[in-house]
Amino acid sequence: MHRPFPTISMQKQPQAWVITPNSQALTELAKGIWACAKQTQKRPLVILSTAGPLIGVRAALEQNRPKDLPSNIAFLPQVISFADWLEAAPGSWKFPKKQTDLERWLSVFVNLRKHKVLQSWFKAESEAGAWGLAQAVIDACDSLSEAVVPQLQSELNNLLQTHTLDAEAWLKKVELVLDQAIAKAYVGLSRNVVDEESAVLLTFWRYLTNIGDPVIRKHLAMADQMQLAKANAEKDPATVRPFIWVQTADPKPIDQELIDGYLHDYAQFATVVRVDLDWQSVALWPEALCGLDLEGHIQVANSAEDSQIESNIQAHRHEDWRLLAARRFEELAWAATKAIESHLIAGKKNIALVAQDRLAARRARALLSRLGDALRIRDETGWKLSTTRAAAAFNSWLEIIRAPKEGPSASALFEFLQNPYFDLSSSLKQSPEVCVGLIAQLEDILIASQAKSGWETFTMAIERANSYAASNGGSPNAHLIDLIKFLRRLHTGWQQSMLDCSSAYVLLQKNLQETGMAQRLENDAAGKQLLKALKEFDLSGGIYKDVKMRLPEWLSLLKTVIEEASYEEAGKEALATLSILPLSSTRLRQFDAIVLVGCDEQQLPAFSEPPLFFSDTLNRYLKSSTIAAQYIQQARDLSQLLVSCKNVDLLWQSKSKSGEPLRPSAWIQRLQAQLKDWRVIDAKPESYEGKSQPITMSVSTPDQNLAIPITVSPSAYKALRDCPYRYYVSSLLGLRKAKEFEEDFDASLAGQTLHALLKTFFQALKTEEEKSHSSIHQGDEARRQWMINHLMKCSEKEFERLIAGDARVLGTLRDWQKQIPSFIDWQIERENQGWRYHDAELTIGFTLSLTDPDGVQRDIRIAGRADRFDIHESDSTAAAVIDYKNQKMKKIVDRSENILDDPQLLIYARAANENAITAHLPGRTVGEAQWVSLKAELDKGEDKNIRAHTVEDMPNAMTQFSEQIEKDLNSLWARKPMQAFAPDSVCQYCEARGVCRKGMW
Ligand code: SF4
Repeated sequence: MHRPFPTISMQKQPQAWVITPNSQALTELAKGIWACAKQTQKRPLVILSTAGPLIGVRAALEQNRPKDLPSNIAFLPQVISFADWLEAAPGSWKFPKKQTDLERWLSVFVNLRKHKVLQSWFKAESEAGAWGLAQAVIDACDSLSEAVVPQLQSELNNLLQTHTLDAEAWLKKVELVLDQAIAKAYVGLSRNVVDEESAVLLTFWRYLTNIGDPVIRKHLAMADQMQLAKANAEKDPATVRPFIWVQTADPKPIDQELIDGYLHDYAQFATVVRVDLDWQSVALWPEALCGLDLEGHIQVANSAEDSQIESNIQAHRHEDWRLLAARRFEELAWAATKAIESHLIAGKKNIALVAQDRLAARRARALLSRLGDALRIRDETGWKLSTTRAAAAFNSWLEIIRAPKEGPSASALFEFLQNPYFDLSSSLKQSPEVCVGLIAQLEDILIASQAKSGWETFTMAIERANSYAASNGGSPNAHLIDLIKFLRRLHTGWQQSMLDCSSAYVLLQKNLQETGMAQRLENDAAGKQLLKALKEFDLSGGIYKDVKMRLPEWLSLLKTVIEEASYEEAGKEALATLSILPLSSTRLRQFDAIVLVGCDEQQLPAFSEPPLFFSDTLNRYLKSSTIAAQYIQQARDLSQLLVSCKNVDLLWQSKSKSGEPLRPSAWIQRLQAQLKDWRVIDAKPESYEGKSQPITMSVSTPDQNLAIPITVSPSAYKALRDCPYRYYVSSLLGLRKAKEFEEDFDASLAGQTLHALLKTFFQALKTEEEKSHSSIHQGDEARRQWMINHLMKCSEKEFERLIAGDARVLGTLRDWQKQIPSFIDWQIERENQGWRYHDAELTIGFTLSLTDPDGVQRDIRIAGRADRFDIHESDSTAAAVIDYKNQKMKKIVDRSENILDDPQLLIYARAANENAITAHLPGRTVGEAQWVSLKAELDKGEDKNIRAHTVEDMPNAMTQFSEQIEKDLNSLWARKPMQAFAPDSVCQYCEARGVCRKGMW
């Protein structure tokens, strides 16, 4: 029902007016404000209790501007939100500095250090949890302040003039209020628990409450505005503008009291009009109409009110209210997307997506991004800055800083190196051309050597790769070492037990500059906001600049602040706008269509997290927000939304994650009971039918233009034997899966170290044998002891660097050291058979010549690195090849059964026999081949054959192998079809599985 704007009286009382919160609300309000201007012949000051409808009110004022206004009131009335009005208080420059969230958290931190009694609360908390608890403490203290400060308004007024405050008296009053609240709320609870908790909270309150707190500043600003009005009234009453207070949402009782008192006092100096919302003709449920009683309980409707509700429902029923139920989450998001699309197609330009279910709204948003720039999406639900790519990149640097002094894990390292904000060329001070492919090369090296963590490990892996490249015709890359050194230097800068806040900030900024991230972040919308959020940490001028904390505490604080920050998207012109917003933000706003997603009984209504320290009863006592008040507010918001907009889609997921049926919100069910023909539409995704061809075993014929490698390593040949299709994918097409680092330490770099140390050891043995006085010549036992001792020491030395990089490698060393005595026993036994160590780690190969189908002669090189060659003492023509395996004997025996499919030893034997000089074996023939386990099962020690396994019937195996490899390579060069076939044991770890689709055929 429309109520005209009241006639302004001269009584020094606030005048009341109500508007109906329907689609005409803003027009009605605008007309009222103009009426006030005309009556008073002054330009009114309009304060909205919440900022949401601000733009709408200004637009409505413009649209409803009366004609022929006198010039003194022709300007648009000033409309401002309460928060902005407080900020604009004329004396705000003399208020104490506003504390940032960070400063308030730091104040909790500092007080914790000072007061033992408080520490018990934080004992069990992790760093991140502790900052969360600090936030809860601050919120609780603010609630206490809200309850207490209004009683101290006159003291605050004095404070404004004198800048002093009797803090003790103030605290006493607070203690009294809190004691009363606790007594009332915690009746029945153990006094001890309650007392301890309240005492700690009170102590916090006492220490934390500061004149820079938002609550205190708010009251100071209100007092200041009042003084201005008073001063103006005393000077010239004609200059005081009418004050229109628009209560856009139900206030908390404490705020209601505060504003009531304030408007009353303000009315002594100016015309005051208070505008409230009248739910009489808008409420669709009794609770929305009746609200709360004086005790804070929901009022029960009488029969007149019930019939009013019934008539409201019938009067406002729109044909275009749709109820849509989707069974699954993905279907829900699709249904929301389709609903929005249908509104766009119908020409609607201003659409709201109410994110009652935030996840589904996010998903719908992602689906809508297909529409591109034609649709502008404004997310008002608070898109977290931490979810942006810029924050993820920044976080990857924090992970490097956080790493232990040995260095980060390889995954953390690549997370950082591959972030798009890291500027490699400026970090290395090299041209961008030099840096091309550098990170990929580093990744290859670290994956191949399985270097999983630690600067020293990374350096070792690069050095090994570089020296291998140098000795095999490749080019070592010094920039890789420079890169690791650069990052290590920055990381070392953070290795201090305690750091103070301001120098940590300086160091962080320096890091961002040196890595080139600062500049790249500056050029990115989210990056810019991130840098701004970081600015808060510049405490150099404040009282917290010298606060010292441990690195994890500081990093966690940094993360918490970024987690709290919101990302604001830049607006752009588009054909239509979609606003994603919470239900509360739809208040007094106009939309062409509204899609409300998440209208199930679990999410509508939705209640804010209860405060950590206060029960609902205590909240009621402190006149703070209660569950009942939130319930009423949402019933009103939903009524207003349905009544104000014709096109409303209400969507929900009708099955929960666990498969249980989910009903729509009780509010919707109650409407359905009244509106019998309002049916639920099942939102089903559109389905398309088609017939697929069954997939058959993958076969590929190499294209004529596909280059076939002219060198084949033993492992590549094994791949060809295992599965030709796999060889096709990995070696011919060169497809490679981005490898992940496994969590557990793999001994690969350790394996290389083992090989290297065995070579060093046997070379040392050779040298020692030359010394005539060495203990080595004093019998078998002395020789054995020397070998054991020396190999032990040698192992310690070689592993030292590896352990410095990754302490977990110590376990591998100890395992190996347990093997040493038995390994030496095997070596001595071998020596007793006449075999002597000759050489190790030798790259050798042989060449196969074949003619391809085009008649072209092809030389294929089959080459690899042999672990070790032995020669026989008494037979000057005999030699043997040995391959060390970091495997148990059982695996080695299994492998030997398929030697033709894994003919590594046969390749080395043939290579040595065909190139005896290169293999340093002139005049000798390799006629024996052995695998030697470096991981023997020592508990089976009685059995002598625990460590070595010899290739059986070597001459025959060599002949078969030679025929086979020729045939295989001829087929390869003939580009014959390459079929996917392999036993499951091979397929299990095959990277080409996704290409060959094994399992689908
Ligand atoms: S998954 Fe098996 S069949 Fe398929 S390519 Fe790999 S090894 Fe061959």
